[in-house]
Amino acid sequence: MNQAPMRHTFIVGLTGGIGSGKSAAADMFAQLGAAIVDADAVAHDLTGPGGAAMASIREAFGPALVTPAGALDRTAMRQLAFTDPSARARLEAILHPLIAAEGAARMSAAMAHGAPYVIHAVPLLAESGGARQHMSRILVVDCPEDLQVSRVIARNGLAAEEVRRIMAVQASRAQRLAIADDVIVNDGDLERLRRQVAVLHAKYLEAATKAVFSG
Ligand code: ADP
Repeated sequence: MNQAPMRHTFIVGLTGGIGSGKSAAADMFAQLGAAIVDADAVAHDLTGPGGAAMASIREAFGPALVTPAGALDRTAMRQLAFTDPSARARLEAILHPLIAAEGAARMSAAMAHGAPYVIHAVPLLAESGGARQHMSRILVVDCPEDLQVSRVIARNGLAAEEVRRIMAVQASRAQRLAIADDVIVNDGDLERLRRQVAVLHAKYLEAATKAVFSG
């Protein structure tokens, strides 16, 4: 019996600190034809109105953490996590397996629809050990911290101290670079970013094609 070779999903984990340019890079990969699965978007969908995590969240925390529309009440959750630090861990214990399963389902669906490979954007990849196991390569978007700060100020209107506070609880540049197979240095203009994305896209296409027969 003739069987098509099992299609091995070539997955590039994409990460970087806040404001490094992950989303800009992911958009450029998408324009070239890569499928994008974004862990933050998955988490957002799972905890949105009627999302797949909401029944378990309601069961674990009661109705106080659920908005009238049936979504996770993020403000209430932040307050609870502040007074009860174990609450965050309990929420993560509910969410992480669901995020992993939903992410895997979206990657399979993208491959079934003919995507050559998947960019799996995981902002906190350097902070979380588990998510790396299924990745074929890890791509880190890196730039000087001052640029991260000025980009996030321009993007979100946050104060510099606020951006620095967020950066302080994220992995350091060195910690992220330590897990990288590939690095995009995003310290120039968008054209320079686009050129680096194009070079990597060609490399990933070639690697993904080879992986079809070795997976
Ligand atoms: P992240 O997703 O890593 O938080 P973004 O991709 O949203 O970062 O980039 C932060 C902001 O900086 C966005 O407004 C984006 O358009 C802009 N940006 C990213 N890279 C560049 C670049 N090379 N030149 C100019 N602006 C950039």
